[in-house]
Amino acid sequence: MRTHAKAVVVGGGVVGASVLYHLTKAGWKDVLLIERAELTSGSTWHAAGGMHTVNGDPNVAKLQQYTINLYKEIEQISGQSCGVHITGGIMLAGTPARVDWLKMAKARGRYLGMDLELISVDEAAKIFPLMDKKHFLGAMYDPIEGHVDPYGVTHAYAKSAQIGGAEIVRQTRVTDLRQRQDGTWDVITDQGNVHAEHVVNAAGLWAREVGRMVGLELPVLAMEHQYLITGDMPELVGKKEQMHCIDFEGEIYIRQERGGMLMGTYERAGVPWSETNTPWDFGQDLLPNDLDRIAPSLEVGFEHFPSLGDAGIKKVVNGPFTFAPDGNPLIGPVKGLKNFWVACGVMAGFSQGGGVGLSLAHWMVDGDPGADVWAMDVARYGDWTTLAYTNAKVRENYSRRFSIRFPNEELPAARPLRTTPVYEKLQAEHAVFGDYCGFEHPLWFAPSAAEATDIVSWRRSNAHPHVAAECLAVQKTAGLLEISNYGKFEVRGPAAAEWLSRVMANRIPKVGKIVLTPMLNDRGKLIGDFTICRVSEEHFFLIGTYAAEQFYLRWFERSLPPTGVSVRPCAVEYVGLSVAGPNSRAILQSLVREDLSTAAFPFMSFRRVDVGMVPTYMGRVSFTGELGYEMWVTTDYQRALYDLLQRAGRDHGLKSFGGRALNSLRIEKSFGTWAREYRPIYGPYEAGLGRFVDLNKPDFIGRTAALDERARGGDLRLLTFAVDATDADALGDEPIWHDGKAVGWVTSGAYGFRAGRSIALGYVPAALADAESGFEIEIIGERHKATPQKAAPIDPQGLLMRT
Ligand SMILES: Cc1cc2nc3c(=O)[nH]c(=O)nc-3n(C[C@H](O)[C@H](O)[C@H](O)COP(=O)(O)OP(=O)(O)OC[C@H]3O[C@@H](n4cnc5c(N)ncnc54)[C@H](O)[C@@H]3O)c2cc1C
Repeated sequence: MRTHAKAVVVGGGVVGASVLYHLTKAGWKDVLLIERAELTSGSTWHAAGGMHTVNGDPNVAKLQQYTINLYKEIEQISGQSCGVHITGGIMLAGTPARVDWLKMAKARGRYLGMDLELISVDEAAKIFPLMDKKHFLGAMYDPIEGHVDPYGVTHAYAKSAQIGGAEIVRQTRVTDLRQRQDGTWDVITDQGNVHAEHVVNAAGLWAREVGRMVGLELPVLAMEHQYLITGDMPELVGKKEQMHCIDFEGEIYIRQERGGMLMGTYERAGVPWSETNTPWDFGQDLLPNDLDRIAPSLEVGFEHFPSLGDAGIKKVVNGPFTFAPDGNPLIGPVKGLKNFWVACGVMAGFSQGGGVGLSLAHWMVDGDPGADVWAMDVARYGDWTTLAYTNAKVRENYSRRFSIRFPNEELPAARPLRTTPVYEKLQAEHAVFGDYCGFEHPLWFAPSAAEATDIVSWRRSNAHPHVAAECLAVQKTAGLLEISNYGKFEVRGPAAAEWLSRVMANRIPKVGKIVLTPMLNDRGKLIGDFTICRVSEEHFFLIGTYAAEQFYLRWFERSLPPTGVSVRPCAVEYVGLSVAGPNSRAILQSLVREDLSTAAFPFMSFRRVDVGMVPTYMGRVSFTGELGYEMWVTTDYQRALYDLLQRAGRDHGLKSFGGRALNSLRIEKSFGTWAREYRPIYGPYEAGLGRFVDLNKPDFIGRTAALDERARGGDLRLLTFAVDATDADALGDEPIWHDGKAVGWVTSGAYGFRAGRSIALGYVPAALADAESGFEIEIIGERHKATPQKAAPIDPQGLLMRT
């Protein structure tokens, strides 16, 4: 084993082997993989090897396509077969809601270039004769699905990496990781030590243990998973290989395995494995079968596919594999741990392993993953993902693997966890809460406790009329919104302004003022949108997205000077309430001594203001687009502030509103938001944020690329559409058609109650930015006329906010 390496990858499962291969491909030859036992000795060796392209996040779906197409390449380089069987796949729907889901999945696949096809039950039975038609209503066919040989794939990656210069050592366990002063790592093993610049934790089933070596508690948990292989079936003799099949209602997947069929299930009563520690002596072992646990799914399976029931069970496999709370991988660098990378929590290694390896290798070699990997970024989780939280969410996710998640569906596990002081007061107002990073926040308010529940639906739901009333109150009188779940940072110090000016694309505000600004990466792409409030010369209050707190902190630490600036996340310390609408000033004026007139406290002002006895930071700004104010207080004051506002608002028509109304209000104003309109695949000019980029500043991160984007005009354009929708609005990820071709995608959509119509925001090619007609948006399989709006549908000049 070499004693020095540019990078050491810990773990020789499919993921570690893929990372190693991609590092050599990206140009790092001096790389070493250390494996405790033999390659594939974790969850990889007993995987069913199924692969598919469909994923809830389009960016992850793209990486899945990449993975499947990669197998030819590594077979060619290594001479090792991956055992690829592209059989095609069929997804069966047994309920009308699932048929709608298939329509949406097909539509989403359209702009990703996926060739998905909706077919009838009769057509499905022709290509997958094992099914009993009477249980199904429809189906979708995907030509690029199938299965691979897990051993073959891992060894093909490994051999290709070795050909590219990498070294692989087996039977060597990493027992500790120690960081040197200069940020490099001593990798301690039971066979000697290696000094490495970078370390990758690809330890799969042991990712938690390797994380703990550096003080990290990674949110991953292994679940037991069972599949069975039937005896040989006469139905398969002399036939083409059966395709991969998912029966959602049965919660099972099926594929051919030699002369029989392999059937696996994600059962409701899933069982975690090794909840706190993974034993080091677990090798190529299997867990005892527990067919009773999956009996309900098997019964349905044998009913839906009768010949499988007749074939008898030849073999049962029960093995553990890991999940993150949302089921997506955890990849990327870790805040506070220079040159430490993770590639774990990969629950679909044969669909995702290639994309994970590619993105991580680019990130390590080029400083940027080269794709939008937000859905897989380890930084999407923070301190709230304790061992017990992860346990509850992973169990829930596993049990729902084949369930539909409706757009208005909030999941119950691990709730309520984080609540603000006004939680009970909002409950008393019949708030229906949503979960955001473990935080309870009001989505909408029902007229009575009995009605305070979401009836899940793809279409406008039972909340629709109540959200309408909330929006109209904000438009006509005033609304009160809890805004505690925003991300907040305090930036202080003599060098604070200079540092912020370098990190943010817009100018830095004067004392007492607010500026909106995008944050760009070196490629000039959007990696954040912030509200910067200047409290004093050396004190700033930043408001952004709480879900991205760790992501932002990790980005900040790249450029923070050793002295002169401090950045402190304070999202939980400061909670907030916002009052918006034409009467908001009158409500607040009755509670404060300062003059709140526009002359004295204009739009985009920010000050310390006492509201009654409550000291607040008050900003004159509102995401609703109406006259409005945001107030930030420490938690001890929030109840008092809430009571004051409610009392003062009584005579001014103040009505509580929630996140659903806010979403509708901001979409009517064409206001984008992080992770929807603003993501690292878009530039600021494409996203319509050009006016917030101050190119007069001589230097800021992303400036050169932003100049270039402005000169070239960018490839895409964010447009606002009025949609001739009927009973369902666009939500996001629907295709946008132009003259019969899918040309773009929706990022957000909602019914706009002030505008009195359905509205969607979405990206189209820049060449179509000025097209006035010919657009359609596909909602649940039906195309609806979509008319591009030259300006925001509500108050395009922004006069309401400024009066
Ligand atoms: C029953 C079953 C069926 C499955 N079916 C499918 C399927 O159809 N399709 C699909 O895509 N996925 C499937 N999976 C999931 C798939 O197996 C995983 O996604 C994949 O194996 C994850 O690979 P990994 O490399 O992250 O982890 P692992 O395979 O667990 O690899 C981690 C490796 O790291 C090594 N290691 C750990 N700690 C150390 C250390 N300290 N020092 C040195 N080495 C160390 C381990 O020995 C191990 O070899 C299935 C899993 C199971 C259990």
